[in-house]
Amino acid sequence: MERKYQDLGTRLAEIHDLKSAAALLEWDQTTYMPPGGAPARARQVATLERLAHERFIDPAIGRLLDHLRAYEESLPYGSDEASLMRVTRRDYERAIRVPPSFVAELNSHTAESYQVWSVARPANDFAAVRPYLQKTLDLSRQYADFFPGYEHIADPLIDRADIGMKASSLRPLFADLRDELVPIVRAITAQPAADDACLRQFFPGAKQVAFSTEVIKRFGYDLTRGRQDVSPHPFTINFSVDDVRITVRISEDMLGEEMFSAFHEAGHAMYEQGVAASLEGTLLAEGTSAGVHESQSRLWENIVGRSYGFWSYFYPRLQAAFPDQLSGVSLDTFYRAINKVEPSLIRTGADEVTYNLHVMLRLEFELALLEGSLEVQDLRAAWHERFSADLGIAPPDDRDGVLQDVHWYGGVIGGQFQGYTLGNILSAQFYEAALKAHPEIPDDTAEGRFETLHSWLKEEIYRHGRKFTAPELVERVTGSPMHIEPYIRYLREKYGESYALPASDAAVGPLLPSD
Ligand code: ZN
Repeated sequence: MERKYQDLGTRLAEIHDLKSAAALLEWDQTTYMPPGGAPARARQVATLERLAHERFIDPAIGRLLDHLRAYEESLPYGSDEASLMRVTRRDYERAIRVPPSFVAELNSHTAESYQVWSVARPANDFAAVRPYLQKTLDLSRQYADFFPGYEHIADPLIDRADIGMKASSLRPLFADLRDELVPIVRAITAQPAADDACLRQFFPGAKQVAFSTEVIKRFGYDLTRGRQDVSPHPFTINFSVDDVRITVRISEDMLGEEMFSAFHEAGHAMYEQGVAASLEGTLLAEGTSAGVHESQSRLWENIVGRSYGFWSYFYPRLQAAFPDQLSGVSLDTFYRAINKVEPSLIRTGADEVTYNLHVMLRLEFELALLEGSLEVQDLRAAWHERFSADLGIAPPDDRDGVLQDVHWYGGVIGGQFQGYTLGNILSAQFYEAALKAHPEIPDDTAEGRFETLHSWLKEEIYRHGRKFTAPELVERVTGSPMHIEPYIRYLREKYGESYALPASDAAVGPLLPSD
């Protein structure tokens, strides 16, 4: 049994190495590669990914897993060994349902679609991407059909990112959240808006990076096992638990874009740096789901990084870095500026309160497209209509409307967005559990110290990697399943300090009467 387990481990490590090599090529592609390298690089990445996939769906892996079933059952559920066999079996059974020819077709289609989108978005040309989006939808439906027996056609796609979730669980969860959020948005936007002019000045990029780097080091992001670079779309990527890199986007006319993307990505990266060393080189050495991953980025970005306590410590330091821009701006003005609530066009730049409304409409579109109740040719008009109704502003063009997110143009339709809102919900639920264990965390934050929070997250969440599914992990860490109350409490408490809010059961009516 030992020998068979070692054989499995060796095979998985080789697959992990192939994938890590592909990831490094992708990192280079989005940071330093000259544009001329693109065609060859696409081929190189595709080759490595194909080799990794072929090795993983090798029937020999299936036979090893069959032989090892008794061994797995003899070990404690949470042991490294049992977890590796269990999660490998789950991944394997999913992977073998999808023919390699389909994987190749999907990858080459999405690569092409991404290229077309990257030209079409700045040109505001939805018509150019429409046929590609249609094919993406067809392929996404085909993918779902490799998993017959689903309740909703989106379920296999949702489950891929957030295991255990499906359309019928997301819809009521999001509806409940929406019922709570809409009266808060309406109340805040009916009051005088925060003035964020202090953020809209010239802030040299290098100084911004220097400041945010100091902060994320204090959070606990280990730069001897990571690095920070600049890319058009911020992301986190790992090649091992000891090499987890982030990128940020710099705007010199708007303070916050670089800083909060650094806090956000550092949250993702600390999660992966915190996976137990014993899991390195295995498919457990990652975050467990899109939602849990996002909970870690949002926790550091928003719950910590946009809190008053945090800035009571760091604002004098920020003022020292930018005396010309900020010496005349009070802490209260700055705090209100970075927490300005305002319906806006772009999801990634949206404030904490309106952000989830952006996610909800995308999820509804994904479900409707997959169901066939919305046609690709009608998506553009539907986006305008629903966006105006939900957010109260109309996108002036498609660039900042239906073309704004890369997800549908560089991947499948389905399961792409729910993780962001699940992450917001979970960030507050995990943070409440952390406060219960360590009520001193807010005081630490106000002194620029994060060891207690970081250690708790490592112990409770990070070190497990993918050992436990998101529902298992949430139950273990917080003692209950995922629920929205901590997040609503968090928003009400925070924004209730700056704005008059209606009681939570107030019948204010929906923002969108017809919805
Ligand atoms: Zn994120």
